[in-house]
Amino acid sequence: MNEQDLTPQPGKPTLFGVDSGQRPFLKGVRCKACGEVAFPPQHYGCEKCGSADLVDVALSPEGVVIGASQVHIHAQPHPKAPFTVAEVRLDAGPVVRALLDVGHESGGWSGRRVHGVVAASSQDRNVLEFRFGVTP
Ligand SMILES: [Zn+2]
Repeated sequence: MNEQDLTPQPGKPTLFGVDSGQRPFLKGVRCKACGEVAFPPQHYGCEKCGSADLVDVALSPEGVVIGASQVHIHAQPHPKAPFTVAEVRLDAGPVVRALLDVGHESGGWSGRRVHGVVAASSQDRNVLEFRFGVTP
């Protein structure tokens, strides 16, 4: 076993990664024809112009909350309710939905700036989960 095996790894490696400083980035695509940026990444065709000339890009996970809702009842044991799901308009353009790392605090998140954070999964400490944290 090498040292790499002991490092927690992103739980959804097709959607996000972490740099050497453990800062997360989101994986998107940019259209070379019209410049449209999309998330999640796909190579079927540009959502705006239809071009298949799409390149993978790392997106800075920073943006503004455009909607948030607190979930009180959840059919799965994980994540543990209550938790808050936010829709975030990234500065790069795409809208991303993810957990908002605010514990049990509710409400008032729309319009707040957020940034990506990673945390070890409560189910598996070797798996990193992506969340948004509220930028002070
Ligand atoms: Zn395009």
